[in-house]
Amino acid sequence: MIKTIQDYPLSRGDIAELLSSTGEKEQALFDYSYKIKLQNVGNEVFLRGLIELSNVCEKDCYYCGIRRSNNSVNRYNLKHEEVIDLVKLAFKKGYGSVAIQSGETSSKTFTDKIDKILRESKKITNNGIGITLSCGEQSGDTYRRWFESGADRYLLRIETSSEELYKKLHPQGESHSFTKRVKALELLRKTGYQVGTGVMIGLPFQTIDMLADDLVFMRDINIDMCGMGPYIEHHQTPLYKYRELLEPASVRFTLALKMISLLRILMPDINIAATTAMQTLEHKGREKAVAVGANVIMPNITPCNYRKEYLLYENKPLNALNDEDELDSLEKSLETIRHKIGYFKQGNSKHYSKNYK
Ligand code: SAH
Repeated sequence: MIKTIQDYPLSRGDIAELLSSTGEKEQALFDYSYKIKLQNVGNEVFLRGLIELSNVCEKDCYYCGIRRSNNSVNRYNLKHEEVIDLVKLAFKKGYGSVAIQSGETSSKTFTDKIDKILRESKKITNNGIGITLSCGEQSGDTYRRWFESGADRYLLRIETSSEELYKKLHPQGESHSFTKRVKALELLRKTGYQVGTGVMIGLPFQTIDMLADDLVFMRDINIDMCGMGPYIEHHQTPLYKYRELLEPASVRFTLALKMISLLRILMPDINIAATTAMQTLEHKGREKAVAVGANVIMPNITPCNYRKEYLLYENKPLNALNDEDELDSLEKSLETIRHKIGYFKQGNSKHYSKNYK
């Protein structure tokens, strides 16, 4: 078994087999990816203070709680000054980077707003803060403008690399086109960003072979970073009616761990996030993800009164602790797995620095 893992490069068949492994085989996989991770990116975990900028969204994805057609959502937009205060706070507390995520719109008001946030954030931190954007599909011009204004990284999840499954998860038409999403990833690469993508794991209609293909897709497009996590149902979405097809939450969680573990083996020097969805399904879920290969954590720093309106899925943690206590508790639980937080470091992708700089 260990031999199979060490037999580089893993084939799609090997990957699928390892995704189905249980017991000792599964443990051997986790132990191996942990080792690969320590050898390549060490035991440091980088932070991105997550800012959920706005839940206004023009898209209508069947799985997402903030989809356009969900009329029960109170839509909000953080004000420029609110965002800048969060950036200042993150910088002062040593987060090193922020990630600005938002529902998707390409209006001029929105693209201008992001631009202004980027320029001011870089200015007030003397270029000290790293910035990841996760604001969906935009034109090449917009991606370029944001890059020039200071965005360092861009996370755009492909959601699934199976075009067939993608079509089941989204309305038909140009605004939810699989091809356009792949093209957007290419544009981001060309523009110069550290590029991240990711998928949802445990979706209805998703097979192990599709997940193996997802990993091969990420390797083939040579990503610098990845954010992926379990699919979690939301009762105000069309996909909810298929909830009977889902594996139990614990199975989806373990499958997500195996995806992280295998991606670390396939791409030893990229940044991999331990996502909020992992924490939603299991207590200490992010720490478990770190123990099998993740090296980035994105603590939510959005003002508490807005967090409940950014519900992509149910039971998303709204955090009982204040930001400072959350970091303390994170630091302590990471110590138990012999990891430390890379305070005051941007934590750029080593893979990117080696290949694209
Ligand atoms: N509009 C941006 C950000 C989307 S929200 C964009 O398109 O990139 C960030 C991610 O949340 C999505 O890419 C999706 O993978 C995830 N997400 C949405 N609904 C989810 C659900 N029900 N369960 C798990 N993850 C979900």
